[in-house]
Amino acid sequence: MLELLENLNEAQKEAVITTEGYVRVVAGAGSGKTRAISYRFAYLVNALGILPGHILCVTFTNKSAAEMRQRIHLLTGDNDTGYINTFHGFCVSVLQEDSHAIQYPKSFLVLDNSDIDDILSIIYEERGLTLRDKTFSAARDMFETRKCVTEPKYYRDMLNMSIDALKEKYDSADNVDDILFYGYLYQEKKCFGLDYNDLINFTLHIFREHEDIKIKWQKRLEYIMIDEFQDIDALQYELMEVLSSYHKNLFIVGDPDQTIYTWRGASVGFLLNFDEHFRNVKTIYMNDNYRSTPQVIAACNSLIDKNVHRLKKELVSMNEGGDSVLCHLAPDTADEADWITGQMLVLKGMGVPYRDMAVLYRAHYVTRTIETGLIKEKIPYTIYSGVQFYGRMEIKDALCYLRMILYKDDVSFRRIVNVPKRNLGKRRMAFLEEYARNNNCSLYMALYENLEHETIKGTRAKEFIDIIERFSENYEDVPVSELLTKVLQDSRYEEMLRTEGAQDRLDNLAELKQSIFEYETTCGEETNLESYLRHIALFTNADSDVQGEDKVRLMTVHAAKGLEFPYVFLCGMNEGIFPSRKVHTLEGMEEERRLAFVAMTRAQKRLFISEAGGKTFEGIPRYPSRFIMDIDRELLEFTQEPDENMMAAVRKFIDNDSRHLKGASKLNLLELGTRVSHAILGEGTILSLNMDDETYSIKFDEMETPREISFKMRLTVV
Ligand code: ATP
Ligand code: MG
Repeated sequence: MLELLENLNEAQKEAVITTEGYVRVVAGAGSGKTRAISYRFAYLVNALGILPGHILCVTFTNKSAAEMRQRIHLLTGDNDTGYINTFHGFCVSVLQEDSHAIQYPKSFLVLDNSDIDDILSIIYEERGLTLRDKTFSAARDMFETRKCVTEPKYYRDMLNMSIDALKEKYDSADNVDDILFYGYLYQEKKCFGLDYNDLINFTLHIFREHEDIKIKWQKRLEYIMIDEFQDIDALQYELMEVLSSYHKNLFIVGDPDQTIYTWRGASVGFLLNFDEHFRNVKTIYMNDNYRSTPQVIAACNSLIDKNVHRLKKELVSMNEGGDSVLCHLAPDTADEADWITGQMLVLKGMGVPYRDMAVLYRAHYVTRTIETGLIKEKIPYTIYSGVQFYGRMEIKDALCYLRMILYKDDVSFRRIVNVPKRNLGKRRMAFLEEYARNNNCSLYMALYENLEHETIKGTRAKEFIDIIERFSENYEDVPVSELLTKVLQDSRYEEMLRTEGAQDRLDNLAELKQSIFEYETTCGEETNLESYLRHIALFTNADSDVQGEDKVRLMTVHAAKGLEFPYVFLCGMNEGIFPSRKVHTLEGMEEERRLAFVAMTRAQKRLFISEAGGKTFEGIPRYPSRFIMDIDRELLEFTQEPDENMMAAVRKFIDNDSRHLKGASKLNLLELGTRVSHAILGEGTILSLNMDDETYSIKFDEMETPREISFKMRLTVV
């Protein structure tokens, strides 16, 4: 047992052997928080003789739960690793054992987003609703708000009302929200389904209503440990409070600088105020970083230091010096991908296996060019927590529209004929299938020949046929990128995504258009729809082609939380991507910076940062991310000395942008005499600042007298 402690520093040892009471570890990235939890688990089992089944250890992702189980299995040699799970996973365990208390079967169904969407489709069809009434994602958000905030007792209806009574409530609902909400509850109950909100709510409900069950779990869980506590939300907090209140052994670890889920209701306050909420809390601090080289750590410190709302702390690397953080400002995305794969091949040549390399990014769509590069160089890779680019729903749909123009094949037809909805549901599809079978024709022909048939009348089938026919006539003379843009427009496919609020999917489509555009301009040969579709078919097949375990890993930064990799490639570090262009507040920007910090602190041996210049598909110039600019110049090695003029332009852009973040105005006001440009009033000079009414007094060149302009107005420094 003592050997076990030898692998820990003093603070960690203290965390491990302080087994009783409320203990909080506040510590930086890579300082061994998760290691402390694993060792503490082993210590409880091996040194104290606690049964693993009496320990609850909560991790943030399923992936980290699996890793933790493995670590603990190694340390204890025991196959029973107790409850090592996410909050949701743990609630599933409780419900599996005790769902009888709410008259649910053991075999209840856990519903994910796509299941919820399927349920929504049924309701929309039954009640004649369209996405104009409410998008699916807005409906899901509404459910979450009603379930977790405004009607936290909703489950009483679900539990106490019979299926028929719920149906009646649904039938008599008279506004969209109620129709959807009760329709959803009714459908949920019908299939004994529980969504993520229900898992925690139902578990808490059982604990509140059934003292015996609550006490059983409280007594069973003698020790509770929670990783990544900075991202806990109110319901999770309540759950762990209930569970720990019998033995009062609660051990939590967290890093305020890594809070990245406030957009989903998490609050770092639970970590920071833990000692006010519980009595006799022992707090342990750790800032020695065992993960990364001093070079990586220096860059990380330099970045996170730019957050205003933050307790100052500095990570100190315990490792020997390594290579500098290498930064590549690429002229375009293809070059960025080439650079990354080039570096990977060099590493591989030095004996580094591919599995030691990871590519991290802010948003999935960034992977498209990287994937292209990896495929070109035959570097095996695998994508975590996300579908590979060409396997994504919207990309497949878009390509199917193109295929319809050329091939009119049944596979493409089935995929898109009713996307967006054209009233061609199951029944009508069955009719078409039958007709096609009897007449030995394609589904497309079946539809074409039956537009006037009573089964098809009243649908929007004609619209669909018209589009495909129109495009089929003259596709040969039109560039494929233009074809795609038009067909997505005319078919209202993009409009559908917009109403759903599916910005990510729209981004992916923009990325697809960009890729086709590049294909057309760089391929060298004559390109047309046919050659493009043949070319792209190779890519779609390549998805499953990769075999063996030695693969580069690609994942979003959110998915990489808590993990580490010897070589990290942080790509797509552009303004508008990372930070995301959806960020409009200072708070939001600080969360983005913490996210960048999480990304950078994943690297053990070397960190590679890259971005791509040029223009986006919409013609907007791309700038390097402010997070690159945040890092002290001497801590970065650039592959090529950045052009000073370009850097000055970047700084100006970022300056202007950050001044317009909500919540930033007070911190970042313009000075007297600054020359500014106003979108409508033109250029002018700031004469004075009026702090009371929060305005600038500006003398515009084209106006006789000065104007009072709100601090909130977007002004560009000229
Ligand atoms: P994060 O904030 O990213 O979740 P963390 O604080 O949980 O990081 P760990 O993942 O536990 O950090 O540890 C980071 C790395 O440092 C791991 O590879 C771990 O094995 C190693 N490590 C932790 N503590 C020590 C130690 N005392 N001696 C040597 N290596 C250590
Ligand atoms: Mg950790």
